Amino acid sequence: MPGITLYIIFYLYYVLIPVLYGEDISRDFSPEFKVIENMFEVHTNVVWDGNRNIDENMYSGSETDLKRFFPEGSFSIDIKSRFLHSIGKSSPEILESRYNASMPIVEGVVYPEYNNLNSIMDGIKNSGLKALVFGGGTNVTGCFRLKPGSGVIAIDTSRLNSISLKGNTVTVGSGTYGPELEKTLNSHGYTCGNFPESFNYSTVGGWIGTLENGQESNQYGGIENAIISVRAITSQGEIDDRIVPRESSGFPAKSAFLGSEGKYGLIVEATLKTFRQPAKRFFKSYFFKSFNDGIEAIRTMDRFPTILRLSDETETSIAISSGGDSSLKRLFLNYLKMRGVGKGAMMIGVNNNSQFPDKISGGISAGSFAARQWFRERYTRPAMANILWKHGYVPDTLETSAMWDVMPALHESTIQKFHSIEKERGFKGIIMAHLSHMYETGACIYFTFIIRSENAMEDLSAVRESIMNNFIKMGAALSDHHGMGTYLKKYQHPNKIRMQSLLDDNLFSGWKNE
Ligand SMILES: Cc1cc2nc3c(=O)[nH]c(=O)nc-3n(C[C@H](O)[C@H](O)[C@H](O)COP(=O)(O)OP(=O)(O)OC[C@H]3O[C@@H](n4cnc5c(N)ncnc54)[C@H](O)[C@@H]3O)c2cc1C
Repeated sequence: MPGITLYIIFYLYYVLIPVLYGEDISRDFSPEFKVIENMFEVHTNVVWDGNRNIDENMYSGSETDLKRFFPEGSFSIDIKSRFLHSIGKSSPEILESRYNASMPIVEGVVYPEYNNLNSIMDGIKNSGLKALVFGGGTNVTGCFRLKPGSGVIAIDTSRLNSISLKGNTVTVGSGTYGPELEKTLNSHGYTCGNFPESFNYSTVGGWIGTLENGQESNQYGGIENAIISVRAITSQGEIDDRIVPRESSGFPAKSAFLGSEGKYGLIVEATLKTFRQPAKRFFKSYFFKSFNDGIEAIRTMDRFPTILRLSDETETSIAISSGGDSSLKRLFLNYLKMRGVGKGAMMIGVNNNSQFPDKISGGISAGSFAARQWFRERYTRPAMANILWKHGYVPDTLETSAMWDVMPALHESTIQKFHSIEKERGFKGIIMAHLSHMYETGACIYFTFIIRSENAMEDLSAVRESIMNNFIKMGAALSDHHGMGTYLKKYQHPNKIRMQSLLDDNLFSGWKNE
């Protein structure tokens, strides 16, 4: 009898209620924010409205002369757009742009279209400026960090946005945003299979430029799996790959442009694989006694579901606490306790076209609610970061990938490093992690940390330095998918930097190297 009652309660909580609530993606992150405030043991008011005070006088000057180099309607010297084309979305940039009204910015912004690309390239060369390629501007690695007086113009790719399907491929303009591409593909029964959390704001050119990895990578792979060819323009002219399933004729252009971060030229368009849209998605959540038990369960899986996301104990606890207090939740937590798991580590999974196994080694099945909710909100998490920023917190993330045998120690040591820096420097902070992007040999581990400090810039920099050094010490990647940008360059081996620089096009990279 108690078994049946429990079953009915879980059915209501995890199946019926979510279905009744529908697929509404609007979301208020106040509950999560409250949990974090409690962890920091402070109550805070809004201290920043999110606007930056740009001192226009700092930036006015000779840039108006530049207009003559570019076709009518393709060039802007508006200070706000120059500013927005000079920063990405990394926390150091957000911090700096908040306090430093005189950050270096580009001299102007050009908006090429297919029919004026060559004249715009000529205009840039004739102007004597260097080029910064700007897709959606969502990179978090300081790709756009300018030095004072670098003399740079931004190429905004948003007008390079054609989409054309052929066979099982799509040829797409580099400035096309995720939703436009996916909507067109869906109308033909296809999907691009590539869904970074920044999907709504990032572009195909940016995905290639950073060697990005989407949330459904377990099934579709990263952008490197989808790409068939690129067409790019460099200061020496055009370069492309043949649109063929495979080619062995030396080094393909696409390999060069994957992760090129705008240094080798402008990707104009790319041909990508398309995949059949899934007929049905299945959702499931599990709880493990510990993060390490969850890691072991994933490592030994025969096949990874489309999405798997294993939260560590802190991330799990925040997720559970932000759900408020209710008798249903208490019952559920008691159930987990009774099964010997406690709050433990939560894993959510989404699988295209096939059901999850009833049992996963060491995991307690916990219905579909958490997985459905995560999926509904999968692009909305940045809203949580915005609340934190506005209340004076500094949220940040660093991610890496590592082999399975290293993962538990990498997780533990990174958290320890964070807390020793916290103690040493006397600020308050929290850190949590999750695994996402599973590979046969290992996984991506993604750390989120939040600090509250009077010396946020210095403290953040110390934390980042310590975590990166730990990644290197533990034999992990510099980054699984965010890229190198300017922040990680110093950790790269000089020989590798030299090798990667062999293809640098001075028109596009000169300002980065000077
Ligand atoms: C909230 C948030 C969530 C994120 N989630 C993910 C995630 O799940 N997975 C992931 O991998 N990343 C993620 N990122 C990082 C970022 O969104 C990705 O790196 C994305 O691929 C960047 O695309 P973009 O169009 O914004 O590129 P931009 O930021 O505009 O550019 C990135 C780099 O690519 C170059 N570039 C852009 N377009 C071109 C082009 N046409 N030709 C040549 N070079 C070009 C730029 O010069 C720059 O060096 C996230 C970022 C944020 C802020």
